[in-house]
Amino acid sequence: MAKVEIKYTKLFINNEWVDAVSKKTFPTINPQDETVITQVAEGDKADVDLAVAAAKKAFHRYSEWRTLDASQRGLLLLKLADLMERDAKYLAELETLDCGKPVKQAEGEVLWSAGIIRYYAGKADKILGNTIPADGDVMTFTLKEPVGVCGQILPWNYPIPMFVWKIAPAFAAGCTVVLKPAEQTPLTALAMAALVKEAGFPAGVLNVIPGYGPTAGAAISHHPDIDKVAFTGSTEVGRIIMGAASAVNLKRVTLELGGKSALVVFNDADVEKAAEIAHRAAFANAGQCCVAGTRTYVQSGIYDKFVAKAAEIAKKRSVGNPYTDVQQGPQIDNDMFTKVMGYIEAGKKGGARCVAGGDRQGKVGYFVQPTVFADVKDDMKIAREEIFGPVQSILKFETFEEVVDRANDSNYGLGAGVITNDITTALAFIKHVRAGSMWVNTYDQVSPQTPFGGFKESGIGRELVNTYEHVTPQTPFGGFKESGIGRELGEDGILQ
Ligand code: NAD
Repeated sequence: MAKVEIKYTKLFINNEWVDAVSKKTFPTINPQDETVITQVAEGDKADVDLAVAAAKKAFHRYSEWRTLDASQRGLLLLKLADLMERDAKYLAELETLDCGKPVKQAEGEVLWSAGIIRYYAGKADKILGNTIPADGDVMTFTLKEPVGVCGQILPWNYPIPMFVWKIAPAFAAGCTVVLKPAEQTPLTALAMAALVKEAGFPAGVLNVIPGYGPTAGAAISHHPDIDKVAFTGSTEVGRIIMGAASAVNLKRVTLELGGKSALVVFNDADVEKAAEIAHRAAFANAGQCCVAGTRTYVQSGIYDKFVAKAAEIAKKRSVGNPYTDVQQGPQIDNDMFTKVMGYIEAGKKGGARCVAGGDRQGKVGYFVQPTVFADVKDDMKIAREEIFGPVQSILKFETFEEVVDRANDSNYGLGAGVITNDITTALAFIKHVRAGSMWVNTYDQVSPQTPFGGFKESGIGRELVNTYEHVTPQTPFGGFKESGIGRELGEDGILQ
């Protein structure tokens, strides 16, 4: 096991490391061996109040942060991305310790996240308003403003990417932040806070409060001085947060919630390639992925061949010590492990055919065998509910119309995929299936340039677009008459 130095376990408020007002701490657990890694300061309402006061002060109209040029905000973000790359190995090892994901994957996520920060660094001074040809002898224009103090509540499945998805657009827009990492994975959020400070962000711009949902999380979603709350996690908690956000001060809300995404494979697909794509869709991050393609619909002509191939790939998937070169580490904690094992039992009892896995792996740690069920029916629990574990359900279908109806027969609508060589089928699928992200002949490709979010109970709003509103427009520069043609500093000439 790697020895990873743990540098930060306190709350991060106003660029200082402090104990919780209550002096309480909570343990964070290593999912690989079920041992306590360390104790972390446990924030609650009193600490959230202090953090919000710091964030509010940092958002004051004459504060250092608010009077910084937009381009300087961009430079701070670039510096943060550089620091993440400098510390990528350390951040990855820390993530693996707390979260259990394979260290190579964790390092990839750190580097990918640094790219997202750079994307938003570039956006900071390209946030433009409009001029509007209004009726009457007037000229009107829009000035985009930052939303204000933002509360951000994170999940445990992608701790560093989720941290970055939340803070980067907020900082680009000029907001300040009070962020709560998931109680299962507080360590990398604190390490990232140290890098935010080192990059030179002024005090109060970022505040990080580890703690539990019903205490620290609820204090954020209820706080009257928080202007927006952004949340990623379960639909159940999303509902609670939306209620809280409307109860006190009508906060803006972005909710990134659960899913039960369908991946549909048509007869004309290459079975081997399709089974590989479907495997990655279902098992990425040990199945702990909101867009996981866990309902694999396969057309009857290739069904048997596909099931055999899917089982073969799942049986070969390497599971074990995440510090070694494996594809899958443990599930996040005992609760999730127990929940996933419960779904596997439900699949077996419900009459689905288990063709791979079906059990825990080893006796210590929250490892689950990659599990494939064939002959799954739409009304089975494993076809309807989000499992959030390494479990693939394969269902047979006959026609396009039938499978579109079945794919849409879900309360969720986060992602969907189609595997076919027929462009007409692919385009019709995209048009008729109701989901926020769609993939053709691939799955789960997410990029900083592309908005991400769900239909139905998978959420409200989009991430990876700036929902934190905007500030000072950068002014296009250029002349009339013989002073010049075109504009510089604007988007003219670089878009078509
Ligand atoms: P969760 O929704 O309970 O927790 C996510 C975050 O919300 C954590 O930071 C938690 O502390 C906080 N939270 C919990 N209760 C809160 C409250 N009342 N007010 C404010 N914040 C609160 O998720 P979980 O228990 O960790 O996982 C349960 C299920 O959620 C999983 O099985 C999975 O289906 C889903 N999930 C989805 C995602 C995703 O990416 N969409 C991520 C993690 C979990």
